[in-house]
Amino acid sequence: MAEETMQFKTELEQLLHLITHSLYSHREVFLRELISNACDAIDKVRFEGLNNEEILEGHSDWKIFIKADEEAKTLTISDNGIGMSRDQVIENLGTIAHSGTKAFLAKAKEADLANNPELIGQFGVGFYASFMVADDVTVVTKAHGEDAVKWESKGTGSFTLSDADKADRGTEITLHLKEDAAEYLNEWTIKSTVKKFSDFLEHPVVMCTTKKDEETEVEEEIEEQINTQKAIWLRPKSEITDEEYGEFYKHISHDTNSPAETIHYNAEGAIEFKALLFIPEHKPFDMMMNNDPKAHLNLYVQRVFISNEFDNLLPGYLRFVKGVVDSSDLPLNVSREILQENPMLDKIRKNLTSRILKTLANMKKTDYEEFQIFHENFSAILKEGLQTDWENKEKIAELLLFESTAKDAGEKTCFDDYVERMAEGQEEILYLAGENRASIENSPYLEKFKADGKEVLLMIDPIDDFVIPQLFEFKGKKLKAVNKGDIEEDKEKLKEEEKQFEGFIGFAKELLDGVKEVKLTTRLKDSAAVLVGDEYSMSPHIEEMMRRMGQ
Ligand code: ADP
Ligand code: MG
Repeated sequence: MAEETMQFKTELEQLLHLITHSLYSHREVFLRELISNACDAIDKVRFEGLNNEEILEGHSDWKIFIKADEEAKTLTISDNGIGMSRDQVIENLGTIAHSGTKAFLAKAKEADLANNPELIGQFGVGFYASFMVADDVTVVTKAHGEDAVKWESKGTGSFTLSDADKADRGTEITLHLKEDAAEYLNEWTIKSTVKKFSDFLEHPVVMCTTKKDEETEVEEEIEEQINTQKAIWLRPKSEITDEEYGEFYKHISHDTNSPAETIHYNAEGAIEFKALLFIPEHKPFDMMMNNDPKAHLNLYVQRVFISNEFDNLLPGYLRFVKGVVDSSDLPLNVSREILQENPMLDKIRKNLTSRILKTLANMKKTDYEEFQIFHENFSAILKEGLQTDWENKEKIAELLLFESTAKDAGEKTCFDDYVERMAEGQEEILYLAGENRASIENSPYLEKFKADGKEVLLMIDPIDDFVIPQLFEFKGKKLKAVNKGDIEEDKEKLKEEEKQFEGFIGFAKELLDGVKEVKLTTRLKDSAAVLVGDEYSMSPHIEEMMRRMGQ
């Protein structure tokens, strides 16, 4: 086929401009992104090969090669992964902007991209990091049963496609380095960068250098593996440093910070697997951007990466957890679809869930400060579990923090502590949900409880009003919204006054058309009247939110 020039999608062009101009001080991430793509490509073909050996074409000695050519000023990264067909090249490297690109562009302007180089990886635009160091990038690639194809671009408006010579399956990416990026031709720089980012990668990353034999003057290729290639989750805990855990966490999460908690264990007994999980401290960028309700753990079976898309491996309300699960009890030679149905996954999920909740409970007990940060960032997600995980409802509820009439604004308490402080004879956990503390702390709903010295939890997270009613009770104590249904009244006093106000109540009923009932109450101290919903009605706060959302 003749050479063909195509235009980048507009968003891609903007993206390239942004990347090449604002990430200068973190240019080294290009190497991590290209190696991680090579690794993904190997994972893909290895997985496909399990059911279709033909696709392997006899090459399953997985390797990622790096080679620098000082004279030509090029750096080449190649793999024997799945390769790409012509159409795939167009789709993946040019015309179709990934779904994340738009979101990335919108956010990248706000965020200080220069200080957040991890953003590139988070939005699935890693390949374009090449243009931070290269003024010309060539990709030669071949997929099984397809012709080899060459993609070339200077990272400005367009790219060209042409036929290529390549006998074996895989991808070779050649970067013609910019003048000021010549350091990436240096063997030591390459090695130390790769080691930093990719030491634990499963596939060998090999540096190729040529040396002239002094006597014969014949050039000799020397291969040297750079990474130690030890799957970190298989190593004994005692041998792994915090730095190593941290690097691995950053690798899988694209977070720049260290995790708040690391959970590393071997499950033994009815089901055997190894898990390495991380609880982040802060919301990673991708989580703020997309509202994906699924958790994405990386599932391995006997060290072979299977998928990060299984939604039954971890419940959605724990989706902030990142990590790896590796099981040798699961079958390897089945499709992802069949594996997803395996009942073993439910057992793994139960085990992981209880481990994570236990870790959080422990964090609350032993490192309250860190726990508060976690709560600030993730409790809204965690609370979804009150609705979806009935088995663990109470354990989740134990982890929740709320403002309270017994505490100053900003200071929080939890159900357990509330119960401990409950007044003599108080049967219910009282709460009031609303938009913010200021708007509800002087509400007429609270008047009686204030006068009686009863504490009321103030729930000001928007999700509270939706999920807290689903909890019904906490450790045998019923939850009671003070703006709904009946509350304990002073019956004698009511009786006394009923006669006196009979006429007025009739009048008020007529006047307030649409109100279901008009009743005398002893719940008010200063206010004259208050609107109360039915016990199981939608709260006014939710109604207001729905109205705002145009429902
Ligand atoms: P991401 O890796 O997040 O999908 P990238 O910009 O890094 O985003 O890569 C875009 C796509 O290009 C990949 O999803 C993959 O389909 C394809 N690709 C990139 N590098 C390779 C490679 N070495 N082998 C095969 N496909 C590749
Ligand atoms: Mg990538």
